[in-house]
Amino acid sequence: MIDPFGRAISYVRVSVTDRCDFRCIYCMAEDMTFLPKQDLLSLKELERLCGAFIDLGVRKLRLTGGEPLVRRGVMALINRLGLQLGHRFDELTLTTNGSQLGRFAEELVAAGVRRINVSVDTLDPDKFAAITRWGRLPQVLEGVMAAKAAGLKVKINAVALKGVNEAEFDAMLEWCGTHGFDLCLIETMPLGEIDGDRLDQYLPLSTVRARLARNWTLTPIDYATGGPARYVDVAETGTRLGFITPLTHNFCEGCNRVRLTCTGTLYMCLGQDDAADLRAVLRGSDNDAVLQEAIIAAIARKPKGHDFVIDRDHNRPALARHMNVTGG
Ligand code: SAM
Ligand code: SF4
Repeated sequence: MIDPFGRAISYVRVSVTDRCDFRCIYCMAEDMTFLPKQDLLSLKELERLCGAFIDLGVRKLRLTGGEPLVRRGVMALINRLGLQLGHRFDELTLTTNGSQLGRFAEELVAAGVRRINVSVDTLDPDKFAAITRWGRLPQVLEGVMAAKAAGLKVKINAVALKGVNEAEFDAMLEWCGTHGFDLCLIETMPLGEIDGDRLDQYLPLSTVRARLARNWTLTPIDYATGGPARYVDVAETGTRLGFITPLTHNFCEGCNRVRLTCTGTLYMCLGQDDAADLRAVLRGSDNDAVLQEAIIAAIARKPKGHDFVIDRDHNRPALARHMNVTGG
């Protein structure tokens, strides 16, 4: 699948649920209303859609959400997709809050998952509870260690929040280095209405990087994922440190990905509203050729770049949908 700007689309991020056992302050309001069940794709429908993308040349699938591991029966989907690894596509991975990893780490490895991203914004238990509202750090750390013990390669994702975790990145880098985890810092993105004030949370990663460079030897490296992350090598730990700055445009030209929501809506760009309703196609026909045609038509509309802005006068996000719907 090649889009109009010559980019090969080889990576799909699939949100398998909008639900979550946490209520992170930058992601959801505490009283979030979730989608009615009939709007969600069934596990069978998700499998069929993933299969269509693989038929069209996609080599990497990342399951996300919401929290992918709280979707009932998700391991059945992971196992079935895992059977196609190696010959039909290269990598099956997930982004998780870690709360269920204690339970699932070994099963994930058995299914063929080799790497996972776990979101941990702070190593301070009280702050962790404040940021995630419903999450508890010991359970997550236990999950992370279970993943490590099961042989999964772990990358830790942390959203940089002004005045919240900004003093902790040295400690987090050290902890990640001790365990051999890469660390990726993320700037907050203006997605969906939340309770707090977005501009209050925004912390530019250029500032964070300059501060870290005082204590660590950071060497830019070429490691590219086709996404908005730029990586440096950390000499003292031997691990990588990534910076995800979604509000800058410098990664759009290499963008290799599209996002599928748990309702079967395909977003060709995280930062644009244009989308294709693949659920209607999926439920309207058993013919996979029709489904593939709809996907190809959507890819032909992939925009050149994104359009994030914050409506500063009203403190509203430019895009009304929440991250848990699109999948992070
Ligand atoms: N529940 C899983 C988790 O937390 O890893 C997967 C879904 S979550 C939406 C994926 C990633 O998006 C997480 O690393 C989260 O921190 C990040 N995220 C959520 N809302 C965000 C926002 N407004 N700006 C930047 N990152 C955000
Ligand atoms: Fe849940 Fe992940 Fe959103 Fe936090 S960031 S509320 S863990 S979906």
